[in-house]
Amino acid sequence: MSMGGSLDQQWARVRGRLKDEVGETAFRSWLMPLQLQDVRGSEVRMAVPTRFMRDWVLTHYADRIRALWTGENPRVQTVDIIVASMGPANDHLETPAADPTPPEAVRVPQRSTAVPSPEDREDLSAPLDPRFIFENFVVGKPNELAHAAARRVAEATTVTFNPLFLYGGVGLGKTHLMHAIAWHIRRRDPNRRVIYLSAEKFMYQFIRALRFKDTMAFKEQFRSVDVLMIDDVQFISGKDSTQEEFFHTFNALVDNNRQVIVSADKSPSDLEGMEERLRSRLGWGLVADIHPTTYELRLGIIQAKADQMGHLIPQKVQEFLAHKIASNVRELEGALNRIVAHAELVGRPITLESTQEVLHDLLRANDRRVSIDEIQKRVAEHYNVRLADMSSARRARAVARPRQVAMYLAKQLTQRSLPEIGRKFGGRDHTTVMHAVRKVEELCGLDRAFAEDVELLRRMLET
Ligand code: ADP
Ligand code: MG
Repeated sequence: MSMGGSLDQQWARVRGRLKDEVGETAFRSWLMPLQLQDVRGSEVRMAVPTRFMRDWVLTHYADRIRALWTGENPRVQTVDIIVASMGPANDHLETPAADPTPPEAVRVPQRSTAVPSPEDREDLSAPLDPRFIFENFVVGKPNELAHAAARRVAEATTVTFNPLFLYGGVGLGKTHLMHAIAWHIRRRDPNRRVIYLSAEKFMYQFIRALRFKDTMAFKEQFRSVDVLMIDDVQFISGKDSTQEEFFHTFNALVDNNRQVIVSADKSPSDLEGMEERLRSRLGWGLVADIHPTTYELRLGIIQAKADQMGHLIPQKVQEFLAHKIASNVRELEGALNRIVAHAELVGRPITLESTQEVLHDLLRANDRRVSIDEIQKRVAEHYNVRLADMSSARRARAVARPRQVAMYLAKQLTQRSLPEIGRKFGGRDHTTVMHAVRKVEELCGLDRAFAEDVELLRRMLET
């Protein structure tokens, strides 16, 4: 459907849509620098400042950009992205400024081989992200069960566990695994009807069917699929009529030996606002949870993504990121994209310093708050003294030294004041804490082994 307006207005709307779809971080890193050049015949040309960016945008966003353009302007059928030096943002109607390297054009065919065209796609199903395939999923302890279950379901020719229920916190790979299952089945057996959609979309479709008094057709559509995947099912908590419909659809499919796969942010039994019979039914098959990431998994993911981007990221920076960005994988990806985009734009290699600079806001948000209790516990364990000795009056060096280390770490790692720290260590005076901090600093300067010990403790507490 054409919205008309000038080319600039169309472009503004395309950009607006893209931003909504990919999120602020990815948009800033990759799509904001795109500049509209012109439309020639059925082809729209856009420019980016570097070759790397062009490749990135092409592999990740070209199909969406084309689809959005066609939506705005039906004349547009193909998208060209060229590498060109950039003028100010509103310069795009002029010929690009003279550039020593001639622009290289890459044609994006209207139909890419990787992504099925809209006609082939189940119209009920939401589009699948081409990056979300098994090959791109890094397996580690926290997600190995979920991954193995997803693989099993994708490869199975008969239904083994029904439903497969995947759950875990945000950004840990639930949607990725579901898309991977769908891709796998669609590729292997294009005749099987696989439908993937968010619970939100399921509800929307249902409400629309109600409004158009078309619920029979709605039921038919869903009940004739081979594999139904509903993402983020917690969304229909408390929405009674949608739950009711989902429950019936679910039962009909399971009874007919069709595979159902559901994801949520909580286990079936913890889904509040969900009817008891639905909750229990959801737990009948295999329930697989994805745990929060570990340092090792994060490092593995960073390495894999860095390889995919074809960008050299120093080992030190990879470790730093794995250490600091512990919240979830989505944020980790956002951080990587940002530092790579930055390095590309300013034309300098990635270093620890540039990383800290580019990500300072993110790093601050991810700073973990360690409690003094935790510090005392860890330090006591490390030096093999009793936890009680952290606050006892004993002055023997064997307990006094670990206590000083704990005070030092409390000062370094928490926001607490000296008097507050003193109180936590058996009501000691703030001058005692100050003395401990100085003493530990002094010893670190004198004794390498001691310094390494303290450093090790600090790192352990920070992860
Ligand atoms: P969820 O649906 O659990 O909120 P997503 O599946 O959307 O999370 O994952 C968020 C992002 O992190 C996606 O870009 C996804 O590709 C990526 N991701 C998550 N887990 C992994 C993993 N184990 N290996 C590679 N990428 C991952
Ligand atoms: Mg998701």
